[in-house]
Amino acid sequence: MDASEALGTLWAEAGSVAVLTGAGISTDSGIADFRGPNGLWTRNPAAQAMFDIRAYLRDPEVRRAAWANRRANPAWTAQPNAGHLALAALQRAGRVDALMTQNIDGLHQRAGAADVLELHGTMWEVLCLDCDRRWPTPEILARDEDDPACTACGGILKTATISFGQALDRAVLEAAVQATQRADLLVAVGTSLQVNPVAGLAGLADRLAIVNAEETPYDDDAELVVRGSISQVLTAVADAVG
Ligand code: NAD
Ligand code: ZN
Repeated sequence: MDASEALGTLWAEAGSVAVLTGAGISTDSGIADFRGPNGLWTRNPAAQAMFDIRAYLRDPEVRRAAWANRRANPAWTAQPNAGHLALAALQRAGRVDALMTQNIDGLHQRAGAADVLELHGTMWEVLCLDCDRRWPTPEILARDEDDPACTACGGILKTATISFGQALDRAVLEAAVQATQRADLLVAVGTSLQVNPVAGLAGLADRLAIVNAEETPYDDDAELVVRGSISQVLTAVADAVG
């Protein structure tokens, strides 16, 4: 039995399954991850400043870089890949009880998944850090400004995503904790499991399976670690279980 088959068996036998995804599930859609071999931070460690709220608030240069990076993000036109589609199919078949993601690209929803818990927010919305007003991101990008300000109060705008130094949405995090504790099996897919609090979900799971190309700090806690391509592994599982 290969590792994909073993995951299919584990998945089929579990009473309820929660899935946690990370940037690795979207690399086959042409969106780079952060810490993989071709990751944004692997190639350019200085890019991390764009994802630190203190730097973002303090330094207009960082905001300009962050907006330029957003504008250039392939996610605006990316299509869901076989991994996203397999998870949506498994959910429709009643084999995914909770779908949680650290991704901000909206590709799970585009693939047809419902009730996605977006732990790190979404790049498809912008919010004013002063007055909390929200806009669809394409509207703000259409203004074609390098550091757009809030039209209502002049405050600093940022995509509705969680940067380092920012707290996660309490309700979303609480829902994810409960979903993980309720599930018999947590499957972590395409995440390096290096950043808390989300990585900590892996420690709350009754049984844990990991699908990732590289090692994670939770590999020793997992009952099964699958090292293959996410698209291929999840397609095989959906065929076997869905
Ligand atoms: P990460 O970059 O830390 O780790 C991704 C992991 O996925 C790596 O270990 C890599 O080896 C693995 N991987 C990549 N492609 C794979 C493939 N096709 N098959 C198997 N494994 C593959 O990602 P993370 O743990 O999600 O943390 C990064 C943070 O960055 C998250 O908070 C997320 O919000 C954000 N992010 C999101 C996106 C997105 O929305 N698509 C993209 C980049 C970063
Ligand atoms: Zn405002």
